[in-house]
Amino acid sequence: MKTDINGSVEYDLIVIGGGASGMMAAGTASTNGKRVLILEKNDELGKKLKITGGGRCNITNATFDSREFLSKFGKAEKFLHSPFSQFDVQSTFDFFESRKLPLVTEAMNRVFPESQRAIDVFNVMYDYIDNKNVTVIKNNPVLKINKSGNKITSVKTERGTYTAHNYIIATGGASHPETGSTGDGFKWLGDIGHTANKPAPNIVPLRIADKWVKNLAGTSIDSVKITFYVDSKKSFSETGKLLFTHFGISGPMILNLAHKVADLLHEGSVTATIDCYPNLDLGTVENNILQVFDQNKNKSFKNIAKEIAPLGLADTIIDFQIIPDPREKVHSVSKENRKKLSQLLKSMPMTIQDLMGLDRAVVSDGGVPLTEVDTKTMKSKLFDNLYFTGDILHINRPTGGYSLQLCWTTGYVAGQLQ
Ligand SMILES: Cc1cc2nc3c(=O)[nH]c(=O)nc-3n(C[C@H](O)[C@H](O)[C@H](O)COP(=O)(O)OP(=O)(O)OC[C@H]3O[C@@H](n4cnc5c(N)ncnc54)[C@H](O)[C@@H]3O)c2cc1C
Repeated sequence: MKTDINGSVEYDLIVIGGGASGMMAAGTASTNGKRVLILEKNDELGKKLKITGGGRCNITNATFDSREFLSKFGKAEKFLHSPFSQFDVQSTFDFFESRKLPLVTEAMNRVFPESQRAIDVFNVMYDYIDNKNVTVIKNNPVLKINKSGNKITSVKTERGTYTAHNYIIATGGASHPETGSTGDGFKWLGDIGHTANKPAPNIVPLRIADKWVKNLAGTSIDSVKITFYVDSKKSFSETGKLLFTHFGISGPMILNLAHKVADLLHEGSVTATIDCYPNLDLGTVENNILQVFDQNKNKSFKNIAKEIAPLGLADTIIDFQIIPDPREKVHSVSKENRKKLSQLLKSMPMTIQDLMGLDRAVVSDGGVPLTEVDTKTMKSKLFDNLYFTGDILHINRPTGGYSLQLCWTTGYVAGQLQ
């Protein structure tokens, strides 16, 4: 790989942005004998890739049937069959494992490098572009894309103007701008006549898998503490009003913390617990239950549940079946089960599936709509020599390795320069 410019080189391809999809495209094109120039504004390539999956990199999702995999993409599904027929999930496994990076599949089909190190994924991609056909210029932001008719003619950077026969915009989306994805590509899209859809807002409710949550649709609790965990490791807590809905949880507290949960969903399986009595410690809750039981010795648990649970949650704590027979008189409820009840009220468990958003899936979107791209080649329908890869494409998708799989697929297909 060359790191400086040779003025006499005539490039077949300029890749703007050296992230996951840009490296895949550049490596593929160079393997096919094309001379490639990567223009990167950071002083390093793949800055975002290196932090993916909380540093572990959820590289894809082990759903090998492309139809099933793509069924998660909502409206984008029908556009993606063609690129996935060229580079699918199995291709990703083959690509990385043949380059001595064994992969492991974890909960919810999330796939990680066996080493659990995103940097190892980066190193494979770096090796892929490290050949005589690729030139990389770092610290050189592209400022403008020039066009004439239906051709891109050059790109203007801080350090000069570059030309090639073909161009790929691989500048990413707008999330985590400190990694370099500052949405520059979105602006150019507008300038050259493509549509640039705005990224979805990340102030959204959370979708929850647990039935008990959905059963509470319409109920709200004024003050709960919610604590989030990634792969069972505590991450952060917030206290505020919680609203249960038919798909999960909402309310101002949840809407405002959703962006943090979006990040956690990239790191692993996210769960949460609800503390219904954030101002009382576990011992006090246990004592309060004991008092209620003492005052209602001969009543059934079913009849006094509403006195120990927050408003609206009596049936829920019965449904948890800590007291197997709700008709049991409370004087015969064991100390152990009383303790379990108090623990439940301090820590009601739920699993976070996703953020709700456009098309009821989220994470990140925005960018060029697929209706303006020939997805067989990832070529622009407006310009003969312009391609798109990765997060610059407007594709609503879930978390769990789906975003990077899109990068590998679109990068590979665009890199074929058909
Ligand atoms: C915290 C976090 C964790 C994530 N974890 C996962 C995960 O585990 N699994 C998963 O599937 N997805 C994950 N994602 C999403 C995934 O990282 C992205 O989908 C992917 O990195 C997008 O790749 P890209 O090539 O499109 O763009 P990026 O990786 O964003 O790369 C774009 C590149 O373009 C460069 N660039 C931008 N503007 C210019 C310019 N004007 N001139 C020159 N260069 C420019 C940038 O500096 C950058 O290097 C995560 C995202 C985040 C934010």
